[in-house]
Amino acid sequence: MTTETSLHDVFTSKQQRTERQHDLVQRHQLPILTLTLHMPIALAKKAYTKVIFQSAIDAIQHKIKQLNWEVETRQIVHLNIGSEALFVVDTPSANLLKKAMMQIEHEHKLGQLFNIDIINRHGKTVSRKSSNMAARQCMICQQAAHICASTNRHTIEEIENKIMKLCDAEAVCA
Ligand SMILES: [Zn+2]
Repeated sequence: MTTETSLHDVFTSKQQRTERQHDLVQRHQLPILTLTLHMPIALAKKAYTKVIFQSAIDAIQHKIKQLNWEVETRQIVHLNIGSEALFVVDTPSANLLKKAMMQIEHEHKLGQLFNIDIINRHGKTVSRKSSNMAARQCMICQQAAHICASTNRHTIEEIENKIMKLCDAEAVCA
């Protein structure tokens, strides 16, 4: 896979994701939750990636149920750049939903690998900032995660090693 192809893939896939989100907002007028994994595209097709993705879905559904909210509908797509899951959540508050999901990102053993975005019923992203949370840290060096990602600071091997360690701790990806 050349860099050009993957950049193009990333661009169109993200654009299509935005369209799917806005389509769901219009149809349901409810907050939309989007799950992706914080992992390099090169690891998207690995067997353990599927396991990690499924454990994120389980954690999200469990949390929503715990809070007495409902998943109105769910879309899961597997793309070249990775899998994504969209949930339409019947909750009175997109902010509370964001807080509950940040709790998963912080407390779940694999949570560092989860990327859970929320848009409210008006189609606006609920940011970590609006919930008074700091930007996410890189799972390897503790700098701001978006800086490491945009500068490719870490090698695939380094990242894969870190993921394997997390998986061992959770005993899910043997
Ligand atoms: Zn880093």
